[in-house]
Amino acid sequence: MRWLVGGEVLDVDTGEFRRVDIGIDGGRIVELGAARPGVDDDVVDVSGRWVLPGLIDCHVHLTLTTDTGDPMADAARTDAHVALDTAAAAERTLLAGITTVRDVGGWNYVEMAVRDAIRRGIARGPRMFLAGRLLSITTSTVEYYPGMYEVADGADAVRAAARRQLARGADLIKVMATGAMLSSETEDSRAIQFTLDELKAAVEIAHDNFKHVAAHCHALRGMHQAVDAGVDSIEHGTFADDEVLRKMAAAGTVLVPTVCAGELLFRDERAVATMPDHLLERMRAFNDQHVEALRRARELGVTIAMGTDAGTPGNHHGLNAWECVFLHRLVGMSPIEAIRSATVHAARLLRQPDLGRLAVGAHADVIAVDEHPFDDLEALTRVSMVMLAGDVVRA
Ligand SMILES: [Zn+2]
Repeated sequence: MRWLVGGEVLDVDTGEFRRVDIGIDGGRIVELGAARPGVDDDVVDVSGRWVLPGLIDCHVHLTLTTDTGDPMADAARTDAHVALDTAAAAERTLLAGITTVRDVGGWNYVEMAVRDAIRRGIARGPRMFLAGRLLSITTSTVEYYPGMYEVADGADAVRAAARRQLARGADLIKVMATGAMLSSETEDSRAIQFTLDELKAAVEIAHDNFKHVAAHCHALRGMHQAVDAGVDSIEHGTFADDEVLRKMAAAGTVLVPTVCAGELLFRDERAVATMPDHLLERMRAFNDQHVEALRRARELGVTIAMGTDAGTPGNHHGLNAWECVFLHRLVGMSPIEAIRSATVHAARLLRQPDLGRLAVGAHADVIAVDEHPFDDLEALTRVSMVMLAGDVVRA
């Protein structure tokens, strides 16, 4: 048994820190109270620190690299190269205090091999919920992401493509309901892609198999169709209006914000300098509108689950907690709201009730920070202890 002693421990439901010790056994929290370590027990001292559940990022691409702004550079890698990049990204993410990720577009299922390596103990990384390849209509963007896109046109083809992802071990299905920002020059980020019928086909197969669906959406009508089709989360939501946000709030559709994709790009000179003009123009043109849509989403009561799009240019793996900072500073969330988006709300989207809370019975995924996060949420970007399933991976 292991004891985490001396910390101020966050109850995410009440939003309060309290001085309590955490008893851990078999990778789970078994006690919250005063430590009574036995002679064989291990004691981890976090005195004077603030202790929170490990953070959950609901939108990453672990297989992508982030130093260049040109997608063609990533496209040229061999799968062996991708595997090494992915393992490095997974480790950086975990050491930054992100103990769970949802990857919404992998690369030739390499990320599944990396997850397997982590489970076997030969690589280090967070818990990984994986989509496999993302499902898309025929598009020239495939040349940017040949390992990520699974092209399917028509409802039957979408059903087959979804089944292929599940057969490879996918935990969810990702669909492209609209055009993307970081896409080919001929793809319009404001265009509708999958039809309502195609979206319904993906949802049917996923839900019949107890999996959920994440829908990439910028365009407004694409968001309406995705919500009508019954998807579980909308990714990005750039061109949302009040009507669709009210519909999401009523239906319980979760919004995954990915503010980092724009904000971190513009803080990285090299990524900006190497980005093709048509991509840079789109990112510049729509970033403010995206943030404004997220502000309205929060005001209208849409559930927001933290997600960064880590893996896009300048959006480096391991900077994930900045999303919470941006949700606070730009989107208007209080610190505890931002923390809930990265813990309990994310866990609910992943259908993982034993994640996102420090409670008896929960997985012992725990982080500690040296400053009070309510005074400065940037504390989350400087974790001093990371525990995954009861093992200290950073101290
Ligand atoms: Zn993405």
